[in-house]
Amino acid sequence: MTSQEELLALDARHVWHPYGPMPGTVPPLLVREAEGVRLRLADGRELVDGMSSWWAAVHGYRHPVLDAALAEQAGRMSHVMFGGLTHEPAIALARTLVDLTPDGLEHVFLCDSGSVSIEVAVKMCMQYWQSTGQPAKRRLLTWRGGYHGDTFQPMSVCDPGGGMHSLWKGTLTEQVFVPEPPAGFDEPLDQSYVDMLAREIAAHAHELAAVIVEPVVQGAGGMRFHNPGYVRALREITAENGVLLILDEIATGFGRSGSLFAAGHAGITPDVLCVGKALTGGYLSMAAALCTPEVADGISRGELPVLAHGPTFMGNPLASAVANASIGLLLDQDWLAEVRRIESGLRSGLAPAADLPGVREVRVLGAIGVVQLDHPVDMATATRVVTEHGVWVRPFRDLIYTMPPYVSTDADVAAISRAIVAAAGEA
Ligand code: PLP
Repeated sequence: MTSQEELLALDARHVWHPYGPMPGTVPPLLVREAEGVRLRLADGRELVDGMSSWWAAVHGYRHPVLDAALAEQAGRMSHVMFGGLTHEPAIALARTLVDLTPDGLEHVFLCDSGSVSIEVAVKMCMQYWQSTGQPAKRRLLTWRGGYHGDTFQPMSVCDPGGGMHSLWKGTLTEQVFVPEPPAGFDEPLDQSYVDMLAREIAAHAHELAAVIVEPVVQGAGGMRFHNPGYVRALREITAENGVLLILDEIATGFGRSGSLFAAGHAGITPDVLCVGKALTGGYLSMAAALCTPEVADGISRGELPVLAHGPTFMGNPLASAVANASIGLLLDQDWLAEVRRIESGLRSGLAPAADLPGVREVRVLGAIGVVQLDHPVDMATATRVVTEHGVWVRPFRDLIYTMPPYVSTDADVAAISRAIVAAAGEA
C-alpha cells in the first residue's frame, strides 16, 4: 500500500483542490474511511464531522439504507442516457420533489450539480421571456452577499464586492445588485428595505428575467440569516412587476434551517426552485431545478419550444435511487425534532464564544451554528485547534461555523461546539 507520506506528496503535485493553489501548499487531511459522523484519517485520528461534507451528508456516512439503495441500483443499471429514455428512480424522484416542495412547482429538471441547476433555472427564466415575446428581459436582480455557485452564470449573481469572484469582473454578465436584507431571523421586518426592493425591481422590470436569492440563509456569502418576510415581499413585488422569482435552496433544502424548504418559512412558491447538496444525502452529485407549469408553458410557446439543456449524466439512476432513499430516510423520522435538538445543542454549546474577545456574533438557526469574528480567521490555527479537539470544520473569511449531519448525537454537537469555541479563542 502506498504510504501516507507518498500519497500526500502525489496529492500536492497532481491534485488540484477547491479554492487551492497548484501545487498545493497546505497538506489536506487524508481520509481513509467515514462512518456515521466520523471521518477516519490515515494517521489513525478520528474526527467528528461538523461540515456534513459541505452541508450534504445529512444522514452521515455509510448509512446502511443508502448503501443498500446504491448497491441495489448498481445491480440493475448505473447509467443510461436520459434523452429518449427514462427510468423509475428518476420518475419517482421527480414525483417526490413535486410533492415535497411548495405547491405549484410541477416540473423537474435533474442536473449534475448545484451550480448547473442555477444555470438551468436562469435559462428557464430567460427562455420564458424570449418565448413569450419579451427578449429584452435577460438580466437578474439579486441582493449582495449571495453565493450561487462557481460556473459563470451563478458567479454573475455572487457578491461582486471583493470576494473571490471579483476576479471575473468584466467577463461576467452584468446583473443588478441591491443591498442584502437586514440581518436576523427574528428581527422585525424593515419596511424601508422592502420599499427599496419594490423601487429597484419596478425600475428594472423591463430588463429583468428574474430575481434570484437564497431564502432566509445566505450561506457561503457570509452565513447570515434574515426575516422570511423579505422573501415573502419579493414574491409579491416580482409578481406585481412581471418578473420571475428563483429561490436557491441548494444549501437550505431538506430541513437545514428548520423548515423542509426555507420557502416554507415564508409560505410562498417561487417560479423556479433549485435544490442539491442534501438531495442524495451527500452520496452523489445531483441537483434539480423545479418550475411551475406557467414557466414550462411559456417556453413551449417559443420558436424553439424545448429547454435548451441536456447534460450527459442527467437523471443518473444511481444518484436518483440514493436520493429517493435519502428523502425516504428523512421523512421516516421526525427530522424537525432532530434539527431542533441540534439547534438547541448549538445554542448552548456556542454561547460561551459570545464572551470571547474578537468575537463579533454567535448565531444559530436550525442545524447551522456560526461564530463570526471581528477579523479574518487564521486558518492554520483554527484547523489545528479543532482537529486537536477531534473535530472537523472548515472556516472561511471571518466565520467558524458548523452544519453537522442530522444524526449527530448531543455529545457530537457538544464536541463540535467546544472545538469551535476553542478555535474562536485562538484563531
Ligand atoms: N447555491 C448555493 C446556495 C450553494 O450553497 C452552493 C454551494 O455551496 C451552490 C449553489 C453551488 O452548488 P454546487 O457546489 O453543487 O455546484
